[in-house]
Amino acid sequence: MKDKEMAVLEILKYPHPTLKKRSKEVERIDGGIKRLIHDMTETMYQANGIGLAACQIGVPQRVIVLDVSPIDTQQSFFAMINPEIISQEGEIDHEEGCLSVPECFEKVKRKEKIRVKGISPEGKEMEVAGEGILAFALQHEIDHLNGVLILDKLSHLKREIYRNKLKKEKRKEEKP
Ligand SMILES: [Zn+2]
Repeated sequence: MKDKEMAVLEILKYPHPTLKKRSKEVERIDGGIKRLIHDMTETMYQANGIGLAACQIGVPQRVIVLDVSPIDTQQSFFAMINPEIISQEGEIDHEEGCLSVPECFEKVKRKEKIRVKGISPEGKEMEVAGEGILAFALQHEIDHLNGVLILDKLSHLKREIYRNKLKKEKRKEEKP
């Protein structure tokens, strides 16, 4: 695919309704899915993100892209279709942010180690096992596919504080 055919797309922000929906399984890997993966990849790098789920660019399908190499240099880019957690171990509080939830950096409960299976863009079965940032990022992106944001993992109070902050910012923007 030529570069000029790729597109950097807008990342949906909370409270966009698409972010709350459960994304659908991909049934067939066709040109559309490959194009989607290219666009997601471009969009993720443009935003300096380490992961992105398709619903974040408005496509409610179970596709994620990840590249945690800026944090863990042992890792590299991959895309996964229909990812599914098949085992998990340990629990840890991890501070994270989300491209769809600007200015929110909070500790959320994550598993320390996970194993995920899914399908590669070439249509082959693939498995990824990881700990640390790879495990956290995988859980974060799979949460997106289930309509779950980091905000949903916070206490009621912290969520309210964030919502109020957003409202205040919106009011500021609306003033001439
Ligand atoms: Zn996110």
